Amino acid sequence: MDRLKGRGKGVGRRERGGGREGEEEKGGRGSRKGERGGEGEGRKGLGVRGKGKRQDYLEWPDYFMAIAFLSAQRSKDPKTQVGACIVNEEKKIVGIGYNGMPVGCDDDLMPWNREGENVLETKRLYVCHAELNAVLNKNSADVKNCSIYVALFPCNECAKVVIQSGIKEVIYYSDKYHDKPEFKASRRMMDLAGVKYRQYIPKKKKIVIDFSVIERQDSLQEVTNGSTMENLKIGDS
Ligand SMILES: [Zn+2]
Repeated sequence: MDRLKGRGKGVGRRERGGGREGEEEKGGRGSRKGERGGEGEGRKGLGVRGKGKRQDYLEWPDYFMAIAFLSAQRSKDPKTQVGACIVNEEKKIVGIGYNGMPVGCDDDLMPWNREGENVLETKRLYVCHAELNAVLNKNSADVKNCSIYVALFPCNECAKVVIQSGIKEVIYYSDKYHDKPEFKASRRMMDLAGVKYRQYIPKKKKIVIDFSVIERQDSLQEVTNGSTMENLKIGDS
């Protein structure tokens, strides 16, 4: 995606998503023990458990980041589409948001330009960022100790929202505005407030949702309801 070019900044802090692996598997629903990695050594001695299980499933961090990216597709912003996904300590999603105009402010009546002679005719004064919307859209009492997956590193305004709402960790994809004052201010506040942040590179380079795939599956006859999405495939392509 073009808009996320330049994500190389902040390489020093980049983690290849490995930091929370152990935690990730523990946090899953149902029996997730012994499922790690899938290849080689780790699977010896597992016996019958997990036999025949699909190995190509989406891991939690990729799943959450993909949901942030998918949500961004709802944005009407012609330049920047950003999504955010808030996850609690049980790996349950408690809030999703994307950048957009405030409720009731007609997208067709509001300005979408980033720059302009008249600041009142730029989007900057109006757009609610993905992080703000994700927090406000929460379906839980609060988002204390949650993590937020975001396509872009939070700006200073969103850092305030993150901090004040009790979110403890930011996992971002792009840091392309790293050197702008808004983002320096953001890091300054989050550092002081003890909010951790780390860049995440999804393990799957591509996640494709192909709505037509169900038509090609052998298990088609098992699907009684044509609208079911359970067998839709998500994976590398
Ligand atoms: Zn923001």
